[in-house]
Amino acid sequence: MSWESNVRKVVPYTPGEQPKAADIVKLNTNENPYPPSPRVAEAIRTLDPNRMRLYPDPKIEDLVHAIALVYGRKDEEVFVGIGSDDVLAMCFMTYFNSEKPILFPDITYSFYDVWAEMLRIPYSTQPLDDHFHIRPQDYMRENGGIVFPNPNAPTGSVLPLSEIEEIVKGNPDSVVIVDEAYVDFGAESALPLIDKYENVIITQTFSKSRSLAGVRVGYAFANPKMIKYLNDVKYSFNSYTMNYPGILLGTAEVLDTVHFRKNCEKIMRTRANASARFRELGFSFDESCSNFLFVTHERVPAKEIFEHLRTKHIYVRWFNKPRIDNYLRVTVGTDEEMERLFSALEEFV
Ligand code: PMP
Repeated sequence: MSWESNVRKVVPYTPGEQPKAADIVKLNTNENPYPPSPRVAEAIRTLDPNRMRLYPDPKIEDLVHAIALVYGRKDEEVFVGIGSDDVLAMCFMTYFNSEKPILFPDITYSFYDVWAEMLRIPYSTQPLDDHFHIRPQDYMRENGGIVFPNPNAPTGSVLPLSEIEEIVKGNPDSVVIVDEAYVDFGAESALPLIDKYENVIITQTFSKSRSLAGVRVGYAFANPKMIKYLNDVKYSFNSYTMNYPGILLGTAEVLDTVHFRKNCEKIMRTRANASARFRELGFSFDESCSNFLFVTHERVPAKEIFEHLRTKHIYVRWFNKPRIDNYLRVTVGTDEEMERLFSALEEFV
């Protein structure tokens, strides 16, 4: 009783299901359906158990340097963490330290309000318009920081770079985090803005376009001063975030840019075919620039489709939330997986 009054009570984020059964079609957590670069398999063979006695490099220098090299940035402009969830949590802790509310969309990545609640950061959500688009003018009010994904999740809607710039430029007194978890599937990155503005940070991840969700690698780009503040908080929390295998495998993956591009193009081709099939079946949705489609059917409720697909061992994501409870978020899988999905849909809708 008494000790419980001192406990930090939180309502945790609910990650998508990770069903264990074989022969399922898993289109519910936006993972990449293809393996990472063959260089990752080679790197696994070089893992040395004797190195595991030692703490890993707290500065994560090899991976930071590889990311900087691939993106043409300086090492001091790069931060690495355990998936972009870790990077984003560190960003919230570092930059959102004001009495004023931070701003993010009402329909967005459902971890933002969890971090805000946990860290006691006041926040105010801004409604997306009727087409699920962010309205930049909503972010021109007093605030303690701004965060949004681009493309947005789970709606997939994209904000053009000029409008992101408007938000960054219009808020010189707060930090703007652009969460680019899905940017590699056809959207434009806001990375060039870090050269023009002091108050913007871009986060990305190896979990989607780089096929390493199971290894947990995320990263961020900003000016060296912002990265230093972020590292100060990281070292005050846990100096050794990335482990030795994660650093090695992440470095091998990021340096294989040819494999990365081919993999993204393959997913975008499957997405184009899947979009046509969804439309034929009476679904509507915005053109996607991510590795998922956010679809709604003209007649059949999303929940019924979701439940039908589960009986066929096909997992997609349905959010029981206002405004989006008649939508399904469907990750783009392999062509074969999408074939199974459409066969199951054809007999139901
Ligand atoms: N941002 C968005 C918008 C996401 O959908 C996800 C995936 N759940 C993440 C960040 C975090 O991904 P990860 O921690 O795997 O990098």
